[in-house]
Amino acid sequence: MRSSVFVLLAGIAVVANAAAPTTEQEMAGVLGHDAECVAYGLPLTSNLGTAFPATDAPRTITDVRNDTEGLKKFQSIQGSIPNIPIKTPGIAYDSAKDPDCWWTTSNCVTPKLAGLKPDIYQAPEPRTLGYGFDDGPACDHNEFYNFLGSKNQKATMFYIGIYVIWFPLQAQRAAADGHEICVHTWSHGNMTQLSNESAFAELWYTIKAIKLVTGLTPTCWRPPHGDVDDRIRFIAQSLNLDTIMWRYDSFDWANGQLGQTPQTIQGNYDKLINDAKSGVLNNNGAIILTHELSNFTMQLAIDNYPKFVDAFDHIVPVGIAMNKTQPYAETTVTFPSFNDYVAQRGGKTTSTNSTGTPSGNTSNNTGNKSGGSASQSGGANPTKPSGASAGLALRPSLGLALFGAIIAGVFSC
Ligand SMILES: [Zn+2]
Repeated sequence: MRSSVFVLLAGIAVVANAAAPTTEQEMAGVLGHDAECVAYGLPLTSNLGTAFPATDAPRTITDVRNDTEGLKKFQSIQGSIPNIPIKTPGIAYDSAKDPDCWWTTSNCVTPKLAGLKPDIYQAPEPRTLGYGFDDGPACDHNEFYNFLGSKNQKATMFYIGIYVIWFPLQAQRAAADGHEICVHTWSHGNMTQLSNESAFAELWYTIKAIKLVTGLTPTCWRPPHGDVDDRIRFIAQSLNLDTIMWRYDSFDWANGQLGQTPQTIQGNYDKLINDAKSGVLNNNGAIILTHELSNFTMQLAIDNYPKFVDAFDHIVPVGIAMNKTQPYAETTVTFPSFNDYVAQRGGKTTSTNSTGTPSGNTSNNTGNKSGGSASQSGGANPTKPSGASAGLALRPSLGLALFGAIIAGVFSC
């Protein structure tokens, strides 16, 4: 979650980049923020024509009128979408009764509307952590993904659609590494503030982007800022998406805001760790909200990983926690059941030599997957690279470009 102002990328210097990566393996071998965040102009996601909305900046998608298949799908559900008010800022709403199960006001995760699946916010198994990261793909995530790979640790990655278009090779890495990929909307706005068609479009085009880039059709999503109600749940469920929330918020996204400091954020991690150790999670495990947002959030995840290993019996992607053996629409990709996954890892997650790997993925990377610390540059990411033609690359002239405040003034997660 990026908080801060959206800095237009004025003053970007164009530099030659003769050795731009063209494959996931090549990209995975690049290290360091500056090198990783150089644009590479992949043909796959260039010149998309009218297949996608404008990709020059993250903007709310208003409709799917230019997408024949999307429009057809939307029209097929349009008449069934519950007549629940759009949550315009300042709307009068009875939070006590909470008729719409609006998480933002009540933390409601059990829909009031019949026929909707409950949100997933915890792991069913005891002392188990549903492990995942929002807001990717970050252009400079290689060191972090290397770390996860060195631990043979899979996670759930909640990807923002426009970043998948901007950083397709980074998105492909998640699939190649066997992580679970879920939707985090196209432009990261508050979904309950959008019209039916706009909310549909934010999910539709993100699914489409992930499919274009990875060949996989996701079946899970997480609402930005947790902003979901029964209207949005209905639209998501109509697109075969399970709604994933969380039981613990690390507030890693809020460093420097809302009174959060590196110390308080570590305290949030510690709370989860201590709860796991003291038996609070002996009936049901947890899902934690963390981000592949910046060097700070990724390094914090690395630093706390050994503590998680110590505190929990199992650390698994959310889909594994839920025994979801078919995480994508494509039946060629399967995950092991929770029991099989745990057994393959030799029981507790501490087994670093285990072979527990979600099967079916095309993990054949030859890139540098050694462990390491997260990118050491201080720059937030991602940097919008567009405008580059193939063979050229853009660098932010200040070494820093921040995205945020796309829709809301302050993001919460
Ligand atoms: Zn987010």
